Amino acid sequence: MSSETSNKNFSNLETPGYVGFANLPNQVHRKSVKKGFEFTLMVVGESGLGKSTLVNSLFLTDLYPERVIPDAIEKTNQTVKLDASTVEIEERGVKLRLTVVDTPGYGDAIDNTDCFRSIIQYIDEQFERFLRDESGLNRRNIVDNRIHCCFYFISPFGHGLKPLDIEFMKQLHNKVNIVPVIAKADCLTKKEVQRLKSRVMEEIEREGIKIYPLPDCDSDEDEDYKEQVRQLKEAVPFAVCGAGQQLEVRGRRVRGRLYPWGVVEVENPEHCDFIKLRTMLITHMQDLQEVTQEVHYENYRSERLARSGQVPKRHTSTESGLSEAESNGLTNGSEDPSDRERALREKEAELRRMQEMLEQMQRQMQMQAASGASTTTTA
Ligand code: GDP
Repeated sequence: MSSETSNKNFSNLETPGYVGFANLPNQVHRKSVKKGFEFTLMVVGESGLGKSTLVNSLFLTDLYPERVIPDAIEKTNQTVKLDASTVEIEERGVKLRLTVVDTPGYGDAIDNTDCFRSIIQYIDEQFERFLRDESGLNRRNIVDNRIHCCFYFISPFGHGLKPLDIEFMKQLHNKVNIVPVIAKADCLTKKEVQRLKSRVMEEIEREGIKIYPLPDCDSDEDEDYKEQVRQLKEAVPFAVCGAGQQLEVRGRRVRGRLYPWGVVEVENPEHCDFIKLRTMLITHMQDLQEVTQEVHYENYRSERLARSGQVPKRHTSTESGLSEAESNGLTNGSEDPSDRERALREKEAELRRMQEMLEQMQRQMQMQAASGASTTTTA
């Protein structure tokens, strides 16, 4: 390549006054696409509410190919298990590593008082792992398994929230972004859906439950986006239905449920909020991750630091299976009290030195003013 052609790529002659930083978003875009996205979704609700069907419909994939459904006897004794399935989905060159954590056994036992304990423990374990990885040597390649969003399935057959629903959401609202959904909405008429939605929202408010707040739009956002967000906010709790099969309706192939009186189309906004739920998840994926990082993880981190005195417990090399060098890396981020004291003393000494310099300069200026001399004096 001649130097003339190669220099042409860097020439600024065609667009004078253009520095080029308008290209920065493209760089960020390219980098994110190359790296791919990671997202972890948890689904919680009694068994049979259609969680697996909905997740498969949402991501057009079969996340549970080898699923075994326990019978009633097994269910009564069963404790909550957590089941994480990961799929890599690619759409137009963009990769999404999606992990769905299912909670089989939730609400199935006769006594459900403790059934969210293992869920809390799981969420905390993911935070703990992230905290540990963050203070390790290889911080750049951390796999983020923290739960970014939790779909909480509410039964369509009740008159609102059950005590277990309220208790679960209260126990977890400071740990995870809860998005309430009304399951199997096709079992209800339009009026019944509206009634159940308002009832659920009233109870959520009355009980002081904090569900994931969809972020407000900036005033300079375009009108379509504002309208979309308004509709999404209005639709909470999303009344959804799912279906595994594709049907033919008036010459169109649709995902739906076939009844003797007609077809419930999953992706028809007149029939249910499935599309709204998917839009919410996709358009707010980054916000869900940011809230997880900045609110829930920070909550966990500060509680954890307060509990352990000041900083995360140091993991010895044998405990964490790391080499000595790596375990030194682990402690680099953490401060020793003596280190902190030394740093404080150094800061104080520096402040004292600056104070002295300032006083000296002031004295010089006063001497100059007194002598009326315009020449400089020696320090
Ligand atoms: P999970 O135990 O919560 O994961 O529930 P499944 O996804 O296994 O669904 C349990 C049963 O409910 C299955 O027979 C599904 O076909 C059915 N089902 C799933 N989604 C819906 C829905 O939206 N509406 C109706 N009416 N039935 C559904």
